Amino acid sequence: MTIHELIEKASSYLDEDDIEAIKEAYEFAKEAHNGQYRKSGDPYIIHPVEVAGILVRLKMDATTIVSGLLHDVVEDTPITLPDIRKKFGENVAILVDGVTKLRHFEYKSKEEQQAENHRKMFVAMARDLRCVLIKLADRLHNMRTLKFMSKEKQIQKANETLEIFAPLANRLGISAIKWELEDISLRYLNPQQYYRIVNLMKQKRNEREAYIQKVVEEVAKHVKDVHIAAEISGRPKHIYSIYRKMVNQHKQFNEIYDLFAVRIIVKSIKDCYAVLGIIHTHWKPMPGRFKDYIAMPKANMYQSLHTTVIGPKGDPLEVQIRTEEMHEVAEYGIAAHWAYKEGKSKNINNKFEDKLTWFREILEWQNETEDAKEFMESLKMDLFSDTVFVFTPKGDVIELPVGSVPIDFAYRIHTEIGNQTVGSRVNGKIVRLIDYQLKTGDIVEVMTTKHSYGPSRDWLKITKSSAARNKIKQWFKRQRREENVAKGREMIEKELKNQGFSAKDILTEENIEGVVKKYNFSHENELYAAVGYNGIPTKQVVSRLTDKLRKTKEPDPEEVLKAFPDVKNYTSHRKPSSGVRVKGVDNLLIRLAKCCNPVPETPLSAILQKVAV
Ligand code: MN
Repeated sequence: MTIHELIEKASSYLDEDDIEAIKEAYEFAKEAHNGQYRKSGDPYIIHPVEVAGILVRLKMDATTIVSGLLHDVVEDTPITLPDIRKKFGENVAILVDGVTKLRHFEYKSKEEQQAENHRKMFVAMARDLRCVLIKLADRLHNMRTLKFMSKEKQIQKANETLEIFAPLANRLGISAIKWELEDISLRYLNPQQYYRIVNLMKQKRNEREAYIQKVVEEVAKHVKDVHIAAEISGRPKHIYSIYRKMVNQHKQFNEIYDLFAVRIIVKSIKDCYAVLGIIHTHWKPMPGRFKDYIAMPKANMYQSLHTTVIGPKGDPLEVQIRTEEMHEVAEYGIAAHWAYKEGKSKNINNKFEDKLTWFREILEWQNETEDAKEFMESLKMDLFSDTVFVFTPKGDVIELPVGSVPIDFAYRIHTEIGNQTVGSRVNGKIVRLIDYQLKTGDIVEVMTTKHSYGPSRDWLKITKSSAARNKIKQWFKRQRREENVAKGREMIEKELKNQGFSAKDILTEENIEGVVKKYNFSHENELYAAVGYNGIPTKQVVSRLTDKLRKTKEPDPEEVLKAFPDVKNYTSHRKPSSGVRVKGVDNLLIRLAKCCNPVPETPLSAILQKVAV
């Protein structure tokens, strides 16, 4: 693309001031990169112009296109960021700075889960999604010119692209970029398969094209009959999607029928369903293949009706039906949002509200599929930038809330590590454990010792992640519990001693077991802890523990009377003269209000109920 083509295309949707700014940025970048060359031997300015061209194709605003033209200036020439700010304003400076920073973003791990984290981290670092779009355009042009790189670099870039950039483009709904990135990556990573598929597609093409042409004509006729304006085309599938199908479904090329799909673009949603009706009237739909992404858009905003029918030749034929606007969104995703919402407006509002209105609407339309919810969550998170991503020394990515300190990090790694943390190093430097706020990209190490006193209560105030706070609370609860258990045991032993019992005799396994059951505890430590924090009176527990022993020691008065008829007025010195004795608990005297005179043997609950009334 030449600068003239760029200007011409941009003029179709931007106003004169915008075009002036683009021209100015071009002259500035050309001057700055003067004398620099690409690996291909081309003057360097070719690259930023191509990047800007891709952004124009996405119908991005002038700020983004100007920033695209300037995206390598700060990194590769003596021009500084303040120079850019002075000449092109704050917004352009922010975007150029953002893209420059993304250049230093490291693509470390190869694992799928980590790749997802990297994608999120990438977006989080960008702060403004337009930085990501410029970066995607940058990567796309670099991939298009990958043949000039060393073999090693080609493989590395292609892997990065498949792991980070293509899924990122997909997440943002920009399939136009996604497909091309995937196809180019496959060409370098598996050239044999790539060219085999390309050749097989070519062989089939003539035969297939004639067939598709016939189908397109037939559909056009039926649609015209009911006076619906439609644009109908047959399009070959992308190489990478065929490759994926062959690998994932273990299919031979010959077994893949839907190498082509018929696409029908109409004016309104009503027309979409009308056309679907026409298709299903003329060709039998294959069961289970109809998908209504209009009523339920995909997480990346994609909308369309998909159906597969048994075509005129008896082959499965995929048909996609959508409106023009849906088509724009399908191709350009989030970028289409800017184009549609802002139109020719010059200043794109960076505020979250504006960015998300559209996503919100989509969320409202659709049933809450988990996938979409997850997408919204991560999108919100990314746009709000309320998350930081840090690295472990091994390069694993850890996600934490903004404002997290090294203690949050330690608890995220492992509870015990958190409990034993005594110090921390960030990017190789010792930092204060409690007031260093982690930043995205930090490499964090914590120092632990087994002899640590455990967490401090202050940590509850400074940690940001709820997980860390819960774990600290748990630790204190457990610690106190241990203290309480010891204290409770000591109190019981002391009370036994006071009453003249030997702890050793009383605290037998059987004896304790019985009392534990009476209180409905599941373990003796619960009993001790309850005593320790004064949940139940020590004397009550001791009374229960010594119940049996006292029964043998202190015979029932009636038995005494029987055995010793002479003794007339035997009364236990322990027996109260008035009040109520609660069965099972000696030494516990309950005095009731005067109105309350229970007959003997009344269950305690009945008395209490009466009192309550
Ligand atoms: Mn570049």
